[in-house]
Amino acid sequence: MVLGSGPGGYTAAFRAADLGLDVLMIERYEKLGGVCLNVGCIPSKALLHVAKLITDAEDSGAHGVAFAAPEIDLDALREFKDGVVGKLVGGLSGMAKQRKVRTLQGRATFAGPHQLEVVTDDGVQTVAFQQCIVAAGSEAVALPDLPDDERIMDSTGALELRDIPARLLIVGGGIIGLEMACVYDALGSSVTVVELADALLPGADPDLVRPLQKRVKERYAGIHLGTRVEAIAAEEDGLHVRFAGQETPDTTTFDRVIVAVGRRPNGGRLNADAAGIEVDARGFIPVDARLRTNVPHISAIGDLVPGPMLAHKAIHEGKVAAEVIAGEDVVFDARTIPSVAYTDPEVAWTGLTETEAKAQGIAYEVASFPWAASGRALSLGRSEGTTKLLVEPETHRILGAGAVGVHAGDLIAEAVLALEMGAVAGDLALTVHPHPTLSETMGLAADLIEGTITDLP
Ligand code: FAD
Repeated sequence: MVLGSGPGGYTAAFRAADLGLDVLMIERYEKLGGVCLNVGCIPSKALLHVAKLITDAEDSGAHGVAFAAPEIDLDALREFKDGVVGKLVGGLSGMAKQRKVRTLQGRATFAGPHQLEVVTDDGVQTVAFQQCIVAAGSEAVALPDLPDDERIMDSTGALELRDIPARLLIVGGGIIGLEMACVYDALGSSVTVVELADALLPGADPDLVRPLQKRVKERYAGIHLGTRVEAIAAEEDGLHVRFAGQETPDTTTFDRVIVAVGRRPNGGRLNADAAGIEVDARGFIPVDARLRTNVPHISAIGDLVPGPMLAHKAIHEGKVAAEVIAGEDVVFDARTIPSVAYTDPEVAWTGLTETEAKAQGIAYEVASFPWAASGRALSLGRSEGTTKLLVEPETHRILGAGAVGVHAGDLIAEAVLALEMGAVAGDLALTVHPHPTLSETMGLAADLIEGTITDLP
């Protein structure tokens, strides 16, 4: 039994079926794919692609090619986004059928250690299982005491793209908030971002966030750090917002507000007690390295187990959980799980950050290769990026890496592999990277560590 059809759930279901198990996957919604495919990773990336087209066209005036202002057909744009999602969701259904993975639509809760109760359109069904993988994901956290007004949205509402608000407030300067800011700014909204912490993208090193912050500061109406929303009053002329904190915005009336202040695991919504599954106070289900809960025949994966709430983590956990159930001797033992903000510029990091190294007193050497010295970055007209490597001082073994710049999310994969393989900086420096690519900056950062280049053009 797999509970949930997001990236964790469908990966687990498909792998289990491939290994010969008889699989039923339960999903409360009609469409398979979970948050990631339907209201997360994929629709946001489709819209970010269009946002990039628009801002690239704006920037290209500086390269001698000027375009007229874009004409935005919101219905067609929505259709494009929904079409991308539709293709992937349809693909999943086909893959499930191919493997004889059965699906059941309904909301499931545990009714005992070997039973789930599923509320379907045709009534309540009790389904029994020998082994279960719980992959019920997470949901957006709402701010308390906000009025019930359709102009106040979470990321799901924001991705529906109902209109292009003239004045948009984004509450939360993390990855999801900034990606939505990027989309609506490009489409023409005047965007204000407020973030409770003292920095955007808490978790990333400040030097990697700086080029993003500089660019968006020039584009947005305002970015206000150390600031929180205290109250919102829904009036006819707009949403009147009361702020508190270090840098409260001058503008206080907005046409729409997107709340992106984090996500909460769904562990507390499954009547897990009935099966004896431990759920912590925040709603996470603790698991061991084999993804087993405290009830050995029940595993849990993805957003509802501790760790970063990211699709690639859920996918890899799903694979391991299915293999464990099929009797394979495997554990989930990723050395690193990369993070990427698909903003413009993108910010990506993996392994140890410099901030963590300092806080934990871990000795490190660091080198940052400025993209102002990359021929490819210059020819793209986007030389504000940096590629950074952290290594162990004695051995030069790679501890962490980060990049900011266009396509930084793609570049980080090389560092992820290097970390997984226990590579040293010399391995990257001696690797012949294709020229002229942004990937060279990874090798050049390693050269800076090794002292094999000392001066930059
Ligand atoms: P989910 O995808 O949440 O799937 C859980 C499924 O379980 C859902 O379909 C749900 O309906 C179902 N379910 C829950 N409870 C029940 C129940 N009781 N009965 C039946 N079914 C139930 N991650 C990335 O790695 N890259 C990105 O670019 C990225 N972008 C994102 C953008 C946005 C706007 C958002 C919101 C998230 C983004 N994420 C991204 C995070 C990513 O979507 C999640 O980490 C991922 O979906 C987690 O997968 P999962 O399988 O654990 O759970």
